[in-house]
Amino acid sequence: MTNGIHKARPFPLEKEIPGISVKTNQEHYKLYQGYVNKRNEIEEKLKTADRSKAAATYSEYGELKRQETFNVNGMIFHEIWFNTIYGGDGVPKGEIVEQIKKDFGSFEAWVEDFKATAMAARGWAWLVYDLSDHRLHNYLIDLQNIGFTAMCIPILGLDVFEHAYFIDYGTNRKTYVENFFKIINWDYVNKRWEFAKKVGELYKASEL
Ligand code: FE
Repeated sequence: MTNGIHKARPFPLEKEIPGISVKTNQEHYKLYQGYVNKRNEIEEKLKTADRSKAAATYSEYGELKRQETFNVNGMIFHEIWFNTIYGGDGVPKGEIVEQIKKDFGSFEAWVEDFKATAMAARGWAWLVYDLSDHRLHNYLIDLQNIGFTAMCIPILGLDVFEHAYFIDYGTNRKTYVENFFKIINWDYVNKRWEFAKKVGELYKASEL
């Protein structure tokens, strides 16, 4: 249950996904609900928090603002995550594949780099469309609110926090990462790419 302005979206948690157990997805969904709930709670508390006592060393206001962005990104990243792992078959298709080939040299080169990014991260590997150079990049982030670069549209993310795979794989992150490529919903990824491309065109035209 989530209470407040932001609501957790429903996902088919009882559905079997190859390589990710129902148990993992049910537990993972609870964390997602937690991000949504905390976002609501923080936004509510910020209305009355004492701004006059704001301090970088410690302050109630500072801690609320610090955790605000963690939960905002936690919510958004997990919505993309669940949309990516449900309903797909892992067969790459659509225009995003052509864009990946263009920006990474080949699809295989992208896969190799994305896997390495996922193995190196403490939080997430993200394929993003970066408006600063209008190219796709694989970026690594260790914490949900630290390291996600300005002007990036998230296209495809792989959650490598331990909660995402320890129930099913223990410490064997490599097999979890390999399995991810068998379940990606490329129709959804292409929808995200269509959106990112439109934003890119708007940004170019705006001359900002
Ligand atoms: Fe997660």
